[in-house]
Amino acid sequence: MRIPSPRTMLLAVAVAVLFGPAAAAAAEEDVTLYTTREPGLIQPLLDAFTASSGVKVNTVFLKNGLLERVAAEGSRSPADLLMTVDIGNLVDLVDAGLTAPVRSQTLETVIPANLRDPSGNWFALSLRARALYVAKDLALESITYEDLADPVWKGRICIRSAQHPYNISLIAAYIAHHGEAAAETWLRALKDNLARKAGGGDRDVARDIMGGLCDIGVANSYYVGLMKSGRGGPEQEKWAGAMRMILPTFQSGGTHVNVSGAAVARHAPNPNGAVRLLEYLVSDQAQKLYAQANFEYPVNPAAAVDPLIADYGVLKPDSLGLVELAAFRKTASRLAEKVGFDN
Ligand code: FE
Repeated sequence: MRIPSPRTMLLAVAVAVLFGPAAAAAAEEDVTLYTTREPGLIQPLLDAFTASSGVKVNTVFLKNGLLERVAAEGSRSPADLLMTVDIGNLVDLVDAGLTAPVRSQTLETVIPANLRDPSGNWFALSLRARALYVAKDLALESITYEDLADPVWKGRICIRSAQHPYNISLIAAYIAHHGEAAAETWLRALKDNLARKAGGGDRDVARDIMGGLCDIGVANSYYVGLMKSGRGGPEQEKWAGAMRMILPTFQSGGTHVNVSGAAVARHAPNPNGAVRLLEYLVSDQAQKLYAQANFEYPVNPAAAVDPLIADYGVLKPDSLGLVELAAFRKTASRLAEKVGFDN
């Protein structure tokens, strides 16, 4: 063992006197966030949280493989909070036993019951609508998801692969509303209405509306903001100029939404810090920034929607529980395969 020199010891004492208990406590209270969301989107919020709470946030950005990483780390994982998009990813974390149920009056008051896990294993932080893009001059004011099967739309609809999580979630919601048999009939009719093979990305719907290939198409709401704002480049700004957005609903329900959300990690070294960060993220001021960063809808109804998106009307999310819906993902995928939706 090395014996510290008197000078080193003096320095250590000085540091302890100057920064002692406070510095040690702050270090202990660090929150480690694993996120699949681009750091640029959330960093300003994390900085604001640190400024107001004194709690530092260590961010680990994982484009892919969040679940695998946390599972591999097991009980030694430093992760406190796991942040990701899509209800499927959140439910998969729960099913893999990687989340901890937490109670928080703030979270349970601010977040509507259908947008969080009943046991507190995850909480939605923002919403994205499965929307309809419509050719600018087309006379259409409202539409239901069920209407997309109407032969009046034959050869006029664009959509990406049915197997993409965004569409799997929509089909799963359809099954939850109408049952499997009706969902299959709907999918077949929707396929018959396609203007082109299902494929590409959501923004390609806007591109193909501009190109005259389709009149309407199914795509996520936030891409409208990304395209209109110019963040996707001048080309995409043109695509967005050729269309407008409608928020469809189910006949007996609201608009299908998916979420971004977060879960406290099962082996979180600092679960209280994780909950504090979550509570901050659903506050009025944080929600506005969090949602607007990617043109999403805040989960806190008191927070403002970005004007580029707000123009298209007030979102009325379907009241279907997301957990219930997630249970139909496998059936949805099988139905899409069965009807050859992507062929
Ligand atoms: Fe997306």
